[in-house]
Amino acid sequence: MKIPVLYYHKIDYPKKDAVYKGLYVTPKQFERQVALLKLFGYDTVNPKEILSFVLGHKLPVKKPLLITFDDGYENNYLNAYPILKDAGFSSLIFISTGFIGKKNAISDEREKAKENFLNKSEIKEMFESGFFIGSHGINHYFLDRLEEGVLIGELIASKAYLENITGAPVDFFSYPFGAYNAKVMRAVKNAGYTGAFTTEKGKVGSGDNSYELKRIPVNGYNNIFNFLYKIFFLQ
Ligand SMILES: [Zn+2]
Repeated sequence: MKIPVLYYHKIDYPKKDAVYKGLYVTPKQFERQVALLKLFGYDTVNPKEILSFVLGHKLPVKKPLLITFDDGYENNYLNAYPILKDAGFSSLIFISTGFIGKKNAISDEREKAKENFLNKSEIKEMFESGFFIGSHGINHYFLDRLEEGVLIGELIASKAYLENITGAPVDFFSYPFGAYNAKVMRAVKNAGYTGAFTTEKGKVGSGDNSYELKRIPVNGYNNIFNFLYKIFFLQ
């Protein structure tokens, strides 16, 4: 058995000037996907349970699932959070702390469409209703291109900032742009994170490296068949 960990970015209708339209999954698509996951008997789990599974332990649920979001867009709160709550699902939201409460575009310099990012009170509210908060660094840098001091700063300060908002440990990290190497993994571990998610495509298996956890990308171009194919057949 392997665990699907889905990852999303924006749950919204694509902005007209957006270059990376695939990053938008519409609220309608998302609602349908959540309904299907529910129908097929999936239950969202605490990311700590994913880690315990990786380390060889059994999970309390038959069909475990983790839904994650990268970057920390406000549309996660406005559009995804109500749908997930209605379904009794949780999710893990990876936030780049330098963008909290701001409006910006972070995918790369070609992206013109600016988005609102989550503010502190939205983060706090989601955390208090059972959602999980992870770090996505401060500035959304390619971590494998940074010098040691800057790298460590990105990892430690973003963690502390989020812990200050939630009042709880932030144990998980996701690599901005999916960029990492052995040095980055070591730094993430040394900064006190217990696990990290990549953008490598696949499911999480027992015995995997806790700092190299695979995920399944979901984008706006996926129809319901592509979506189910990934959940059922991707290894
Ligand atoms: Zn990102």
